Amino acid sequence: MSVQSFSGAHPFRPQCLVDAYLDSQDDRYARSDAAADVADLIGHVGEGRCLRCGVGFADGEIPSGSRVTECRCIPICRVCSESEAYAAEARARVKSPDDAVLLGLLAPVVEWPVSPERVAEAVMAFRARYLGVGMVEVGEMQDTGGSGGWVEFGFDESADCEEREGRGRGSRGDPA
Ligand SMILES: [Zn+2]
Ligand SMILES: [Zn+2]
Repeated sequence: MSVQSFSGAHPFRPQCLVDAYLDSQDDRYARSDAAADVADLIGHVGEGRCLRCGVGFADGEIPSGSRVTECRCIPICRVCSESEAYAAEARARVKSPDDAVLLGLLAPVVEWPVSPERVAEAVMAFRARYLGVGMVEVGEMQDTGGSGGWVEFGFDESADCEEREGRGRGSRGDPA
């Protein structure tokens, strides 16, 4: 499988999804489940669907890169991308049953695919509570800025190479 032109430091790599999955799982999930679960998710890529919620990308939509990996090569939809952007703050704010709606923002990879309605509801709730802005619908997000990934940051494979070799330690061309 070769998927070009998605967000991220490199084209989508199934191994990155596997790694993110393994990182996010807890004791409830045996390692043997990972391959099958991840295979289902990877199937979304060939079908042009968000790996996180399963919603189909619109014609011409450039998928965003999930924040679950630093390389951000896992293709997800704009709603999920916005959801992930709020996740850290939401995690800090969830304190009472009233905040349960915000849990839809968190969604570790082991829980993928998540319900797109739940994600949209969570994004809407977060916006209304903390950003003071209004309604969103699945597949019809307002453009609130960059989508992240290479659309925002450009595409430069060399940065990715350096990252894998160790950020800040040497660079290509250094004498060995
Ligand atoms: Zn999605
Ligand atoms: Zn990757």
